[in-house]
Amino acid sequence: MLVRIAPSVSSPPPAPPKQKDYHLFETELGSHVLAADGSRVYSIGADTARALAADPDEFGRLGLQPDARYVDDTAVEDPPLRALSLAVAQKCNLGCVYCYASRGTFGDAPQNMSLEVALAAVDRLFEGASAGTRLNLSFLGGEPLVNRGVLRAAVEHATRRAAETGVVAGYSITTNGTLISGDDGQFFESHGFAVTISMDGAGADHDRLRPFQDGRGSYSRILERVTPLLAMQRRMQVSARVTVTPSNLDLRGTLETLLGLGFHSVGFSPMLASPGGAAEMGSGDLSLMLERMIECGQSFERSIVAGERFAFSNMATAMREIHRGTHRPYPCGAGAGYLGVSATGELAACHRFVGDAAGAMGNLRDGVDSVRQNAWLRERHVHLQEPCSGCWARYLCGGGCHHEVIHRGRPACDYIRGWLHYCLQAYVRLLDRRPDYFD
Ligand code: SF4
Ligand code: SF4
Repeated sequence: MLVRIAPSVSSPPPAPPKQKDYHLFETELGSHVLAADGSRVYSIGADTARALAADPDEFGRLGLQPDARYVDDTAVEDPPLRALSLAVAQKCNLGCVYCYASRGTFGDAPQNMSLEVALAAVDRLFEGASAGTRLNLSFLGGEPLVNRGVLRAAVEHATRRAAETGVVAGYSITTNGTLISGDDGQFFESHGFAVTISMDGAGADHDRLRPFQDGRGSYSRILERVTPLLAMQRRMQVSARVTVTPSNLDLRGTLETLLGLGFHSVGFSPMLASPGGAAEMGSGDLSLMLERMIECGQSFERSIVAGERFAFSNMATAMREIHRGTHRPYPCGAGAGYLGVSATGELAACHRFVGDAAGAMGNLRDGVDSVRQNAWLRERHVHLQEPCSGCWARYLCGGGCHHEVIHRGRPACDYIRGWLHYCLQAYVRLLDRRPDYFD
């Protein structure tokens, strides 16, 4: 049975925050408040909502301000390494219009990672990890399958090290999908890979944004290579990641097409920073994207209420994080438990900071530059970011992708807050109608 979800409740994006400790929102079930610190959600009476709207000091009087902060000013220091991303190929066979890595080269001469560097990276990841620790080894590029032999040797080395040490190793790859062979599918399946295929829409939308270097579209080649992979999913999960630009904003059509093809899940992220500004989203584009994301979210709500799976990963992630009360002083693990490795063995804050002095973190030979890493983590704490320190969304958002913030600033805050505002409403509705979804 379908339960109608009133779209009018979800539509207006919130105004810029007037206060930082809480966020009021309404649903057809009543009034609610998110307490920012600790990401706690409460249902409140209409009188309380009016009092909070009129006087921010009411928040403290209601006893919603915790005595001990969930997130204090303490920066992460000397974090253990838990995940490494290897740029096994700093080269690519596509010429995506917005590529952050300048056709995969990161602004350098095209190059492959040597076997020696890849094995040293795996050894660095396993260094000091005890039995039961979970580690992740990921491959991004460039296009990692350009250097398939080194990728596979690194995975096999990590699998041997995991068997010897009792460490639990997981593997992931982000690929443009054009070079995948049936044999790759068997390999990914046998190692339980999380495979992410970059797809920017169906047909022409994708072809315009992600052509081969000679200008031909890549969509039909990807379908030919990825369709057999989708049918092989058992241990492996094959997801699609869509980069949203001003020219591929048909999100619902894209979501339905890609889910219909059999992807395990589909997620969207806006293009906020590209070299030279190509295909970056402006504020009007982000407003439209927010509307379209909410339409997709409403499809998700309807499906979950009807007891059907709907693998829209942005929603699934938001529901999980709000339910858990996720609160963090950083947007991601970059520069902390997660680092990137360049083809020549330089360490970087993440895969996007490869070759970028703004995120340099040492090298495989000498190890992590902990002085630099700790200074970076102190500086990147959300309490030191502006305007984040005054934003109610700061512990769900974490302050925005470091790479985008450093290179473009924060053009998407209204979009982020608008999306979280809708997700909070959807969370309250789903908790009411399908509490078992959160089991
Ligand atoms: S980046 Fe996130 S936390 Fe910072 S101001 Fe924007 S929405 Fe708020
Ligand atoms: S800094 Fe940005 S690109 Fe790097 S891991 Fe974090 S969110 Fe991802």
